Amino acid sequence: MAAAAAATGAARSQLNKGRSSRRLPVARVRVAVRLRPFVEEVGNPSESSCVRGLDSCSLEIANGRNSQETLKYQFDAFFGETSTQQDIYVGFVQPILRHLMNGQNASVLAYGPTGAGKTYTMLGSPEQPGIIPRALKDLLQLTREEGAEGRPWALAVSMSYLEIYQEKVLDLLAPASGDLVIREDRWGNILIPGLTQKLIASFTDFEQHFLPASRNRTVGATRLNQRSSRSHAVLLVKVEQRERMAPFRQREGKLYLIDLAGSEDNRRTGNQGLRLKESGAINASLFVLSKVVDALNQGLPRVPYRDSKLTRLLQDSLGGSAHSVLIANIAPERRFYADTVTSLNFASRSKEVINRPFTHKSFQPPVKLAPKELMDPPEAKRARNQEELEDGTGSPESSPSCPKLSPLKQLDILEPAVQERLLNLDRILGSRGSQGTSVLSTPRRERTALEKALKEKDSEIQRLKEKYKELEAHRLSQKSMELENEENGSLAPLHPPPSQTVLMTKPLHRVAPFQQIQEQTTSQDNQVLKKESRKRKPAGSPRGYPTYPPLSVRPQPEPGGQREERAEGLRAALALLQMPPDLLAESRRRILGLLNTGSARELRRLQRIGEKKAQLIVGWRELHGPFAEVEDLRRVEGISEKQVATFLKANILIFAAQCYRDFPRKDP
Ligand code: ADP
Ligand code: MG
Repeated sequence: MAAAAAATGAARSQLNKGRSSRRLPVARVRVAVRLRPFVEEVGNPSESSCVRGLDSCSLEIANGRNSQETLKYQFDAFFGETSTQQDIYVGFVQPILRHLMNGQNASVLAYGPTGAGKTYTMLGSPEQPGIIPRALKDLLQLTREEGAEGRPWALAVSMSYLEIYQEKVLDLLAPASGDLVIREDRWGNILIPGLTQKLIASFTDFEQHFLPASRNRTVGATRLNQRSSRSHAVLLVKVEQRERMAPFRQREGKLYLIDLAGSEDNRRTGNQGLRLKESGAINASLFVLSKVVDALNQGLPRVPYRDSKLTRLLQDSLGGSAHSVLIANIAPERRFYADTVTSLNFASRSKEVINRPFTHKSFQPPVKLAPKELMDPPEAKRARNQEELEDGTGSPESSPSCPKLSPLKQLDILEPAVQERLLNLDRILGSRGSQGTSVLSTPRRERTALEKALKEKDSEIQRLKEKYKELEAHRLSQKSMELENEENGSLAPLHPPPSQTVLMTKPLHRVAPFQQIQEQTTSQDNQVLKKESRKRKPAGSPRGYPTYPPLSVRPQPEPGGQREERAEGLRAALALLQMPPDLLAESRRRILGLLNTGSARELRRLQRIGEKKAQLIVGWRELHGPFAEVEDLRRVEGISEKQVATFLKANILIFAAQCYRDFPRKDP
């Protein structure tokens, strides 16, 4: 069916809906998390998990920064490793389908890093069909019933299938057609003129169109370096209704079923070239999606739909009178940890820090202190029991319901907060003597030994972390020296091989193995870099690298101990890189240029500049004129000193890498 005709039809039919939906309160996006089980193709099944469910709505994950804490998240629903395709579909998706019959829109989005189970959840397999086939079957059945002869409305179902790749909208049912435009009619309905739309009367019709297109996409995935995980796949199902009797009203409901591009942090994975460009587009659109979901769930007056193709497309199906659900897919393996935390933070804007260890064995880096060296037999035995309990492999005698459980084991079946309070009480009474018996009747000697062992383990971990940071900093400085050597040595290799560009930026994001939220790590990074820089001689390094002038960090008008420390951290970071002065100056000049001329949208291409900060910068510029130097960002209200330091640290490196690439052209 020609799409243009459909578009006009849609516009006509939406008159009432478009108007009425604007008056309705903005709908919240319901969010579920699905934790997939360990799968052999993805990881080692013997790996221990770093995340576990608490109940049907919440889960906890080890806190990578503090092994004594876990992070607890709450959602509209949580589906654990054992949940089935049917559970998710029936519990979270099926209930929204009936709204399509009333001419309302709906969307289902699967979010999460590559390998976490998005495609499994949406598409599934012939044996374990996912949301798409289940929803299509039910929807077709519903429309057959509702549209049967004698019923007031005649119904027609149609489908379109598209892909958003690098901010281009591509028709998967007509792969030859190019980038399609997204338009909005005067009633606020979103249309894609030119998009193929196929009528489907049965599930066989659906498969006939969907399967080849899906297959094409998967074949493309191998050929084009996993393109399928780097684009958003959008299946659009429309239910059009016509009243059989006067006044012959028309209405239309749209359902979007979306397998989003992988949300992994592509900077961390060290992508370059095309992958880096793809990553930029993915990160940008997922970032906008998170802003949209956030704005809707907080009831903010402005929802930034227009900032990405994906959200623009979903404008009339996310919020308004639409029913939207987001399923964040997460994986249990430890190597997914950082992406899991990011996904959980995306899906939930609030989390709670619970003061209790996750599972000691599962989340600490390998430390050469074997349990038997740390514990005497009773403790080792208790720890084993504890592990069995956590793994669910404990014998019936050691199960939580068993009355013979030791008090400490019984703690496991209590609420975390209650556990924590009991443990504190136990500690207090224990340390006071309490006539030699602690509340939980743990022999004091045993507990002291355990605590001592734990302390030793903690300090060992701390030491290893420090060592790791030092090594990373050392590697970074070596690399920058090599880069400079190449630049000074010959003209030929002036274009750094791609991996070098990545190495220049990557370590800043990978200081610690458990890095999660970059803001949290910044001050630590600075301190490590500072330490490293103190070890270095200020000038005339053995290899004769040029030293560069210190950054012109302004004198501080207010008490500036902390600021000076941060500025020093920044200087140290740059000193560490041994960046040639001209490269540094050019990098700063470019950043300043962008700060002074970039639109809010362009400014958001800078690291650490989100929508709010971009607007603050543009506003400040309008009031005060151009910035004289990049550090002037500190004068913008709402941007802190610390944020400026982080901003510089992130951007100078990236711009320097760009300048480095451009130099041969400018100055052969
Ligand atoms: P993504 O689309 O997020 O990249 P996939 O859906 O391709 O991830 O899942 C990665 C692997 O994990 C696949 O082999 C898939 O079959 C398997 N998998 C994902 N979720 C589950 C699950 N809930 N149960 C069993 N296997 C799963
Ligand atoms: Mg996939």
